[in-house]
Amino acid sequence: MDCSSKKKQYYTEDEAAEALIRSHIRFARPALSYYLCAECAQFHLTSRGPQHPLLDQPEVVERIHNEQQSQDWSHRLGRK
Ligand SMILES: [Zn+2]
Repeated sequence: MDCSSKKKQYYTEDEAAEALIRSHIRFARPALSYYLCAECAQFHLTSRGPQHPLLDQPEVVERIHNEQQSQDWSHRLGRK
């Protein structure tokens, strides 16, 4: 199903949540949340706030932190 938003579609909320967390691990300006699209009835990430409460959960914060560190280990390119 196509969507005029042209955003990547996630079939389930779990997939969208995982993608949101991964964007925080990988990108300096990550997505802030995900939403259920009224047009295509699937989930998209968005960089508009408010930040999803998932990102405040201690285990999620810790996972992002840990995975960022292991990424820095494999490509040390002056990233903080
Ligand atoms: Zn959509």
